Amino acid sequence: MCPRWGGLDDSFDVIVAGGNVAGASTAFDLASKGLRVLLVERRSQARIGSRSCGDGIERYQFEKLGLPIPRGEFILREVEHAYLNSPDRKVRLRGETAGIAIDRFGLNQYLVRRALDAGVQMIDRTEAIGPMVEEGYVVGVHCRPTRGGDTFRVLAPVTVDATGWRARLRQAVPADWPMTEVVPHSEMALAYREERRRPEPVEDLLVEATFDFEIAPQGLYWVADRTETLVNVGIGMQWVPGIPNPRTQIHKEVLPKYPGLANTTEIRSGAGVIPNRRPIDCPVGPGIVAIGDAACQVQPMTGSGIGASMYAAGLLSEVVTVALETTKTPTMEDLFPYAHRYHTSYGTDQAANQMLRMSLQALTNAQLNRLMGSGIVSEEDMVSAARKGRLDLSFGKKLKAATKLLGEPRLVRALNRMQSDMESARDLYTRYPEDPSGLTSWRKEAKELFDRAPSARS
Ligand SMILES: Cc1cc2nc3c(=O)[nH]c(=O)nc-3n(C[C@H](O)[C@H](O)[C@H](O)COP(=O)(O)OP(=O)(O)OC[C@H]3O[C@@H](n4cnc5c(N)ncnc54)[C@H](O)[C@@H]3O)c2cc1C
Repeated sequence: MCPRWGGLDDSFDVIVAGGNVAGASTAFDLASKGLRVLLVERRSQARIGSRSCGDGIERYQFEKLGLPIPRGEFILREVEHAYLNSPDRKVRLRGETAGIAIDRFGLNQYLVRRALDAGVQMIDRTEAIGPMVEEGYVVGVHCRPTRGGDTFRVLAPVTVDATGWRARLRQAVPADWPMTEVVPHSEMALAYREERRRPEPVEDLLVEATFDFEIAPQGLYWVADRTETLVNVGIGMQWVPGIPNPRTQIHKEVLPKYPGLANTTEIRSGAGVIPNRRPIDCPVGPGIVAIGDAACQVQPMTGSGIGASMYAAGLLSEVVTVALETTKTPTMEDLFPYAHRYHTSYGTDQAANQMLRMSLQALTNAQLNRLMGSGIVSEEDMVSAARKGRLDLSFGKKLKAATKLLGEPRLVRALNRMQSDMESARDLYTRYPEDPSGLTSWRKEAKELFDRAPSARS
C-alpha cells in the first residue's frame, strides 16, 4: 500500500480533486463552513485556469441561480446585448442584458486565492489517480506528483470529483455505482476559440453567434469583442464522427465573413470539450460527490458552466456539512440531497435545453433559415428558449406556423414537438427522486425520454 501524505491523513474532512471553477468554489464554500479541506490539483498553482473559454459570464444563469456575480479585476466589460443569427445571417435576434466579458484565467486564479485565504490547503502539481474504496465507501484518493516521485494517498470522509469532463474519480468507483454513468462523446461539444487583437480600437463592440450546421456541424460559431481591441472568435460542434477541423473552419469560413477582422492578429488559441447535456443521473456515491463538468453541469445550448458550477458548489457544501455533522462515513443516502436539489432546480433548465438543442440539431440550415425567418418564433421566444429552456408557443402561434410553413410539414411538426419535449424533460427533472430508492425507475424513464428525442440522425 502506498504511503500517506505528510502524516496528515486524518486531518481533512473533504478532499477536492481539481482546482478550477468547480473545485476552487467548492473548496472555498466548504472551508467557509468550517470544514478542513484539501485541494489536489494537477497543474501548478500559477497555471490553474489557463484553459480555452468563451470568456463570458451569462448574466441570466447567475440571476436565475441567485448567485452574486463575482467582482474583481477579471471583469472586462458589461455586455448589454448579444445577437443570434440564422445560418444565412438574414435574421438577427437580439437578446438583452447578455452578460459580462471576463478574463477567465484571472477569474480562476481569484477563485483559487479565495479558497486558500479561507484556509484550504492545496497540493498542486499532483494528480488524483483514483479513489480509495474500502468496504463500499470512498475513503480517500490515490495521488501522484506530476513531476515524478512516489504515489501516496490522502484520506477524508468525503471526496469531491471536480476534475472536469474526464471525471477521473467518479469513473473509477465500482462499476455498479450509478455515478459511473458513461457520457458518450455525442453528448459533448468540441469548442475551439482564438483570441485576436485588433490593430485599432473599435467603438461598437459586437457579441454574436450564428447557427450554421454546414460550417459548424450541429453547432455554431461566434465573434465576441472582449475589449475595444481584443476579440474572441470561436466555433462549437457536437462531438460526432467526421467533424471538420475547427481551426480550419474558423480561418476558411468564419474570418472571411467579417471584413473588420481581416487585420487582426492571433494571440492565443485553444480547444476544449463541453459536456453540453443534462446533468448525469446520479452525481453521488458513498463518500464521494461529483461537480462541474465532471457531473455535466453545463447549459446545453450556450455551453456555459461557470455559473452552474458555482451554484452546485453552494448546494454541495451545505449537504456535505450537514452529513458530516451526523456521521464520519456519509452514505449515498446522506449525500443524495445534493443530487435532488440540483436536479430539481437548475437540472430542469439543463434537461429542457438539451431537448431544444437536439430538436434544433435535427434541422437543416434551410429549415433553420425558414423557421427563424418566418417570424413565428420571436426574439423573445428564441432567447427565452435558448437561455431558460422555455418555449411558450400559443395556439395562435401554432396556427400561424401551420400557414406560414405550408409545404414544410416536417418543420411544423418539429416546432410543435419541440415545445412538448422541452416540457416533458422539465417535468421529469422536477420529479427527480428525494432518495436513492426511486433512482432506478427515474433513470429508466429519463433514458426512454431522451432516446425518443429528435436527433440529427433521425
Ligand atoms: C472552448 C470553451 C469555451 C467555454 N466558454 C464558456 C464561457 O464563456 N462561459 C461559461 O460559463 N462557460 C464556458 N465554458 C464551460 C466552462 O469552461 C466549464 O463548464 C467549466 O470550466 C467547468 O469547470 P470545472 O472546474 O468543472 O472543470 P475544468 O475547468 O475542466 O477544471 C478541472 C480542473 O481539474 C484539474 N484536473 C483534471 N484532472 C485532474 C486530476 N486527475 N487530478 C487533479 N486535478 C485534475 C484540471 O487541471 C483543472 O484545473 C467553455 C468551455 C470551453 C471548452
